[in-house]
Amino acid sequence: MTVAELINSSKETGFSFELLPPLKGNDIDRVFKNIDLLKEFNPLYINITSHRDEVVYKDLEKGLFERRVTRKRPGTVAVAASIQHKYGINVVPHIICSGFTKSETEYALIDLNFLGIHDVLLLRGDNSQTNRFFKPDEQGNDYAIDLIHQVNEQNQGKFLDGTLMDAFETPFSYGVAGYPEKHEEAPNMDSDLYWLKQKIDAGAEYIVTQMFFDNSKYFEFVDKCRAMDIKVPIVPGLKPITLKNQMNVLPKIFHVDIPEACAKEIRKCKDDVAVKQVGVEWCIQQAKELMDHKVPILHFYTMMATQSTRKVAEAIY
Ligand code: FAD
Repeated sequence: MTVAELINSSKETGFSFELLPPLKGNDIDRVFKNIDLLKEFNPLYINITSHRDEVVYKDLEKGLFERRVTRKRPGTVAVAASIQHKYGINVVPHIICSGFTKSETEYALIDLNFLGIHDVLLLRGDNSQTNRFFKPDEQGNDYAIDLIHQVNEQNQGKFLDGTLMDAFETPFSYGVAGYPEKHEEAPNMDSDLYWLKQKIDAGAEYIVTQMFFDNSKYFEFVDKCRAMDIKVPIVPGLKPITLKNQMNVLPKIFHVDIPEACAKEIRKCKDDVAVKQVGVEWCIQQAKELMDHKVPILHFYTMMATQSTRKVAEAIY
């Protein structure tokens, strides 16, 4: 079954989560340890993020720096394949425009096809840290919708260089991202939803939302999507807060608000142990309300929060 079929057929709210490939130099056991902590809650699928290269500056002597370009977290395709092989759980590697040429994307899709992985999440990808505004790779896709067109072409057996092949026996099925609090660059919510609708009309079968901490934002977003005739499942993304500094870091990076009721409890915490407790309780409260609204899946962002995600899962599943 594809992930879209799993989501559509789930009778009760299912469980899924996102993992990052290990930082360059670390081995995959770290990834497996996280899965081992969560697998008893029967994840329907596991997402694996994808990361562009970054510019880093190495300190040299006498105040000089050396500029280097590096990918700190390569390995998305390999990590996805090894998880599927070891655990037999559906995997959803992320495919991004940012930092990748169309050819590299084509080759990644060929690899995934050979590995028997046919679910992907198609995204534009994060900006490079050195550019204030998103700058697509000269040979790459500009927006997620362009990536969708590339995947659609490949699904029909057309390669970039015009070579034809037998269409993939199992075409790629894919989801896309949605933003209950609006994508940071969108001029307004309606414009953001216009582009989201283009992605759905082009073939995306489900939406996974950016994390949110206020369920009313998700419910309003779903209502707006439905009013735009976006009918696909909208999977809510949740993250248990684990550190006091995330009160500032999460809004800055992800452009999401933390409700005052939650912020107030975190302000009272003496240390991050106490913060973790508040984060878990807040997330359980969010999860329970979303389950009451019969959301198909709860999708957890587990970065630095695997133990907390486990506590939430213990309380709700
Ligand atoms: P798009 O859908 O391309 O939209 C980007 C912006 O452009 C929006 O403001 C949209 O309104 C607008 N827009 C869209 N199409 C057009 C068009 N044709 N013309 C003009 N404007 C347009 N980042 C990573 O680097 N790696 C990951 O693994 C990753 N995983 C993620 C998973 C989820 C569930 C989410 C929610 C985000 C993830 N991100 C990841 C972050 C994501 O890549 C960024 O938020 C990125 O800035 C936008 O991606 P998108 O696919 O939503 O972009």
